[in-house]
Formats: sequence, structure tokens, C-alpha cells
Amino acid sequence: DAVDSAPAIVVGSGYGGAVAALRLAQAGIRTLVLEMGRLWNTAGPDGKVFCTTSAPDHRSMWFRTRTEAPLGTFLWLDVVNRDIGRYPGVLDRVHFDQMSVYVGRGVGGGSLVNGSMAVTPSRSYFAEQFPTVDADEMYGTYFPRARAALGVNSVDPAWFESTEWYRFTRVSRKHAEKAGLRTTFVPSVYDFGHMQREAAGTAPKSALGGEVIYGNNQGKRSLDKTYLAAALGTGNVTLHTLEKVRAISRAPDGTYVLTAERIDETGKVVATKEYGCTYLFLGGGSIGTTELLLRARETGTLPDLDARVGAGWGTNGNVMLGRANHLWDTVGANQSTMPVMGIDDWANTANPVFAEIAPLPTGLEHWVSLYLAITRNPERASFSYDTGSDRLRLGWTAAHSAVSVAMAKRLFDRINAANATIYRYDLFGSRSKVFADDFTYHPLGGCVLGRATDDYGRVRGYPRLYVTDGSLVPGSLGVNPFVTITALAERTMARVLAEDTAP
Ligand code: FAD
Repeated sequence: DAVDSAPAIVVGSGYGGAVAALRLAQAGIRTLVLEMGRLWNTAGPDGKVFCTTSAPDHRSMWFRTRTEAPLGTFLWLDVVNRDIGRYPGVLDRVHFDQMSVYVGRGVGGGSLVNGSMAVTPSRSYFAEQFPTVDADEMYGTYFPRARAALGVNSVDPAWFESTEWYRFTRVSRKHAEKAGLRTTFVPSVYDFGHMQREAAGTAPKSALGGEVIYGNNQGKRSLDKTYLAAALGTGNVTLHTLEKVRAISRAPDGTYVLTAERIDETGKVVATKEYGCTYLFLGGGSIGTTELLLRARETGTLPDLDARVGAGWGTNGNVMLGRANHLWDTVGANQSTMPVMGIDDWANTANPVFAEIAPLPTGLEHWVSLYLAITRNPERASFSYDTGSDRLRLGWTAAHSAVSVAMAKRLFDRINAANATIYRYDLFGSRSKVFADDFTYHPLGGCVLGRATDDYGRVRGYPRLYVTDGSLVPGSLGVNPFVTITALAERTMARVLAEDTAP
């Protein structure tokens, strides 16, 4: 039999894929997970699984010859990025015409590279974004379920106030308060017990050792330690890595057929495989899932997909920026890579922004306060797929980003005015660039809940085909997205297992 088959297949092993795999497996359904990245569980010659941000090597980025870090320069100098060997590294930056998107590659998806901030959105904004979802059920059942399974915890406030590692956060809090702004602690999936042991010198340093965007060797509860470990523990899950799903079609009996390419560590395709399944769950993330469905619609393998597949995409209003502090406001040479606080001005209807206070851990005092602002940008773009060139395109433009920048600028102009400070001009490559608005960490949408799918993520027109990832979110959430993606996936799985998989 040339076709490997399983009752259920899950594409991708990020948040949406991991939830699907665990809940299917617990229901006794044999499940195959296909992930294009590698499994990050073996140490390299340096004894570590992941490389550091200060000395990135081939493990850092997905088939690159040079790293592409978010902060390209320091004092306008090209000191940040490094030449590296081509390899299936853990962080990818997917380039579209006027926007690029950072994503994680590997077993665990974005959980391997992200900042661990585990934020539940405000109920009113969630309800606005998801008018057909029962908010009582989300806030009563699925958000708590997601937070528990992800291992969310909070920094000890007393330790936070006293440790050198969060001095940079306290300085930014003081500056926000001077402008009359509110700050709030944000929970995390980084183990704060471990972080305190790192500070005490009794555990190896990871968050306190500059590790984050190229992976954490310690302390982080990434999905491979939580949902995916539990899924594999059931014995019902098989995991194939370095396999990228290319095509989806439907057999005459209504089952799904997948074509996947297996690559080696040089990126060469070493085999093309076919898989069959009854239930198909797409967890490739906003870009991965949307690309698969658009290709299927445009090449005619799933011709009845809804016209709204590809639409409703946004950046969650992401903008990164730095401020230059006075000499007496030292931010500290020692900075934890895990943010724990945000400036919460979301309720300001004239200019809603939630800005997380981000670290810039260089090991030297630099007087920079860095932020990732999440703005309420109403602009949305669509993906399109060009069959001739087999290319996914994204209609997001610089004009769309300018809306986010204007909102971030209004907030931080206030903070600068209250503190007599200015922006940093040297961090993002060119002489005049203050606001990094050409990349996002939070790609959202492309297969929006209740539009391209029904209200539970069932893909319209195709029974037993589901979307469980960030492509369900309509472009904006107001906070960091993984808790919401996880909770929505929990909701989908509860419904599907109750209604669709009964014998
Ligand atoms: P992903 O986590 O992106 O998972 C998709 C997986 O599918 C990937 O492993 C991918 O390799 C695989 N895949 C895709 N296509 C295919 C295919 N065709 N075949 C096989 N496999 C495929 N969010 C927060 O909430 N808090 C934070 O602090 C935070 N910080 C971030 C920092 C960085 C640097 C980045 C990049 C992101 C951050 N995010 C954060 C965003 C968060 O990580 C994402 O929202 C989340 O990972 C999206 O989950 P997902 O399930 O939609 O997809």
C-alpha cells in the first residue's frame, strides 16, 4: 500500500496542531502529526539544543545564510546579524511584498521561539472580534483549560521589584506612570521558579542568558513539554518531522489525501509521500494553513472552498520601537528575555494600544527602553495564490502599517513628552527609522472563524476538514495571541469530538 493512512492527520505542531493532537489521542483516535520543522531534542557539539541570540549559528534560522533578527542594527552598525550555514533552523522570517512574518519551525511551532507571554484578551474586545462565540463558555471553560494545560504562571511581585533582571521593566513602568498610563503584569509560560534559580546561580541561565528567539534551552514550557508530550504519552500519536504538506485533495469516498515532501537537513526533497485520513486538522498557522487551502482551491483539488479563504488577515497592529533614556535612568546590563509587563491603554477609545515592555539583552548598559506595541489597527489584507509561479502573495501594504505606527506614535509621544526623552533612531537599519512596522510576530487570519469556516472551525464545503490555528482570528486580538489560539482550539476539539467523530 503506497498510501500511509491514519484515522486523523494533523498538519503542523504549533498551538492549534498540538491541541488537536492531544484531544484526538485522548479520545482514542490514532493520529499522525506532520511537521515541516525538526524535533528540537538533541544537543549540538556545544552541548546545547538551541544556540544563543548573541552567537547565532546554523540552528537559528530556517535555511538562511545570514540571520535576520528583528533589531537589525545597533548605533546603525550591522553588529547584530551573523553569517550562518543553511539548515532547518528554528526561526523563519517569511517575506511578502511589504510585510514579513516571523514564525517558529519545529515540533512546537511558535512556542519554541516566542516570548512566552500568556495573555487572555479583554472580554469585551474578544466578544467584538468573535460575535458568534459564546463568551461565557470561553471565559468559564476554554481559557482556563488552555492556561492550565499550557502551564501559565506569574512572576513573584516581590522578586520582580527587587531583581536587577527586571530593572528595565521598572524604568519603563515609571516612565509610563509619569504620563498617567496604567501598566499591568502579564502571565507567562516561562517557569519563574526556574528563572529565580537562574538568578541565584543554582540553574543554568536561559531567560537570563539571552535566550529567546532562537529557542530556550531551559525553563520554557514550550508545547513539546506540555500538550505534545501529553499527546505522545497516550501512545496514539505518531509524529513525522521534516515533512511539509504540499497538497490536499479528496478521494471519491470522501477521505482526504495529502501529498507531503520529506526534506533532509540541507533542504533537499528526498521523498514525496502520500497520506490518507478521514479527519484532517490544519494547524500550520495563519500562513501555513491559508497557503494550503488557497493552493487547493486555486489548483482545483478542493474547488468548493469558500471565497473567503485567504481574507481577513492582519498583523495584530504590531509595531516595535525604542526610546532613549536619560543617563540616570539606567536599564541595566542584565535583562531577562521574558517580558512580564505591558502598558495597557486599550480602553482609550481614541487610541487603543497595549504595549509590552520588551528586553534588549546585550549584556551592556545601553539606556534603551524597547517596546512591542499592539495597536488596534482596523486594516485587513488578503492572501492570493498564483498558480503559475506557485507563490503565495499578501496584499498588506506600507499604508496599512502606517495606521499602526500613528497609534504607537501617539502613545509614545505622550511618554516622551512626560519624561523629556526621545526615540532611538539607530535600531532598525536606516537613519530615520524609529518604528519597525515591516514585520509582525502575530500573523492572524486568512481562514476566519464563522466566515471561511463555520463557528467551530469546520471548513465550509468539506466535511471532516478543520482549521484549529491562528488563521481563525480576524486580524486583531489586542493582546499576544497564543492563549486565545489554544482556547479556541480546545473549543473546536470539544465540539468535534462530541458531534463529528461518534461512531
Ligand atoms: P504556529 O505556532 O506558527 O505553528 C504552525 C506549525 O505548522 C509550525 O511548526 C510550522 O512549521 C508548521 N507548518 C506550517 N505549514 C506546514 C506544512 N505545510 N506542512 C507541515 N508543517 C507545517 N504569542 C504570544 O501569545 N505571546 C508571546 O510572547 C509571543 N511572542 C512571540 C515572539 C516571536 C519571536 C514570534 C515569532 C511569535 C510570538 N508570538 C507570541 C506569537 C505566537 O507564537 C503565535 O501566535 C503562535 O505560535 C501561532 O500558533 P499557531 O498554532 O497558529 O501556529
